[in-house]
Amino acid sequence: MAVKQTAGRAALGEFAPKFAQLNDDVLFGEVWSREDKLSLRDRSLVTVVALMAQGLVDSSFQYHLTTAKHNGITRQEIAEILTHAAFYAGWPKAWAAFRMAKEVWAEDDGEDGKAMHQREMVFPIGAPNDGFARYFVGQSYLQPLSTSQVGVYNVTFEPGCRNNWHIHHAAKGGGQILVCVAGRGYYQEWGREARELHPGDVVNIPPEVKHWHGAAPDSWFSHLALEVPGEDCSNEWLEAVTDEVYGKLS
Ligand code: MN
Repeated sequence: MAVKQTAGRAALGEFAPKFAQLNDDVLFGEVWSREDKLSLRDRSLVTVVALMAQGLVDSSFQYHLTTAKHNGITRQEIAEILTHAAFYAGWPKAWAAFRMAKEVWAEDDGEDGKAMHQREMVFPIGAPNDGFARYFVGQSYLQPLSTSQVGVYNVTFEPGCRNNWHIHHAAKGGGQILVCVAGRGYYQEWGREARELHPGDVVNIPPEVKHWHGAAPDSWFSHLALEVPGEDCSNEWLEAVTDEVYGKLS
């Protein structure tokens, strides 16, 4: 998708029409727009560092910081980027850049964990999981992704949230597959050690095995839950995972 830029023509269209056209149509319209070659986020990162390295802290730098934020660079990331670049570009330049970056990301001071978690994940967090809330400790969220053929649901757990011990029953086939997509969590079968889960991990849960899954105490967590087709499938919800059991997780 082409990046639409009109700043060149707006500021210099009369005075320097060629410069304005190169700025709007070539730099932004062609180079910035090659998203298939390099993401907008990465282009922002390169641009911010390049401007900072020259000691530019004018309105164009502010524009590029704002764009970088819009392109997904977080408050924590810009702090890390400028700190890193400071060693190569010069300490005073980082000081100057930080003054402006602090303003641009100011309203993100109170950004909540849920919003940060969502930005790490392509699937929506979805709505509060009220229908199953009585089978969970803490707040969970549910987003159906597929409700025909094979049911696929994105389940998100706030830090400390986990579902109760439960069993996926089936006369034949059945069970559940978890595909971890964001954050950090745990899966535990009754009588066994808990397994720590990270994005990309897959858990095959056979039918008739008592287990729970949920977030780590200090991290949001999302997994896709896939219902494995079978005969006479049902879920049996059991007791909550106690703080004693959950508290043993590192
Ligand atoms: Mn399960």
